[in-house]
Amino acid sequence: MAEFRIAIIGAGPAGYFAAQALQSAEIDGKKFAIDMIEKLPTPWGLVRSGVAPDHPKIKSVSKVFEKIATQEGFRLVGNVELGRDISLKELEEMYDAVIIATGSTVGRKLGIPGEELANSISAADFVPWYNAHPEYKNLEVDFSDQVAVVIGAGNVAIDVARMLALNPKELDLTDTAQYALDKLHNSAIREVHLFGRRGPEHAAFTSPELRELPKLEYTDVFIDKGEISAAQQRAGSAGEIPKDIKANLEAMAAIATADKKGVDRKLSLHFLSTPLEIKGEGRVEEIIFSINEVKD
Ligand SMILES: Cc1cc2nc3c(=O)[nH]c(=O)nc-3n(C[C@H](O)[C@H](O)[C@H](O)COP(=O)(O)OP(=O)(O)OC[C@H]3O[C@@H](n4cnc5c(N)ncnc54)[C@H](O)[C@@H]3O)c2cc1C
Repeated sequence: MAEFRIAIIGAGPAGYFAAQALQSAEIDGKKFAIDMIEKLPTPWGLVRSGVAPDHPKIKSVSKVFEKIATQEGFRLVGNVELGRDISLKELEEMYDAVIIATGSTVGRKLGIPGEELANSISAADFVPWYNAHPEYKNLEVDFSDQVAVVIGAGNVAIDVARMLALNPKELDLTDTAQYALDKLHNSAIREVHLFGRRGPEHAAFTSPELRELPKLEYTDVFIDKGEISAAQQRAGSAGEIPKDIKANLEAMAAIATADKKGVDRKLSLHFLSTPLEIKGEGRVEEIIFSINEVKD
């Protein structure tokens, strides 16, 4: 049967789900033959190099990708980078259509003095480092101090904070890169402080990620109860609290009131704090924050 020939660039979720859509489509009796072109030797994009290694259930979406990859007419070509090994023009000459699904891997800068100091690391570099992404394996990471600060109030910040705060033996049976695991086992970090710029009611976390924090076996998690009550009042004063915000605030209140285990590993969530400057002699030693206020 005649086929359209399609190149999909990038073997992440977007690439695989585009392939899946094409596999179930047909135009004028013609089906689609797909070549997926990936710059790395391994597929799955951020499902491999982004999703935290202690969340294997989320990574299990790779089973869907494997099913797509074993359909007739699908080929994965690894170690080929668009722009380095092959140009878009060349691909356009070879295929009926080219789908670009190369994701977004660049971290956002804070734009504050001291951001360039050693050991001030973007999650866009740190996460692929612990996930064994070949381009990040030589990242300089220093865990010799007791305190780590994570800036951000979304699920990536929670992932990073949890990875730093949990007992690394909880990662021994996961896909964490061996070099990262070795470093984490020797880490002196015992206090992780996560800071969000706005209030708890504005945080971009999702509640399942928050709800798992008090269940950490070797880490106590802290949030100021007063800060959550104030956020609940503020959010409620504008009418009915949207479901996702309500669930987040309930999960945070549960963290605030949960019994603590009295262990030495601690993770604290703080809000209404904007980083102004990172200070240190050649490497991070201190961070200056301004304290914010929510106004109507
Ligand atoms: C730290 C972190 C944790 C996350 N956790 C979750 C989670 O728990 N649950 C969830 O649902 N989502 C999570 N996400 C989001 C999810 O991983 C992304 O939304 C999703 O992977 C985006 O898919 P994508 O295919 O667009 O891009 P990507 O996954 O980035 O895939 C793009 C692919 O293109 C390849 N590529 C790039 N440039 C080229 C090129 N020039 N030539 C050839 N190939 C190229 C890359 O190597 C990569 O394999 C997380 C993201 C991060 C960063």
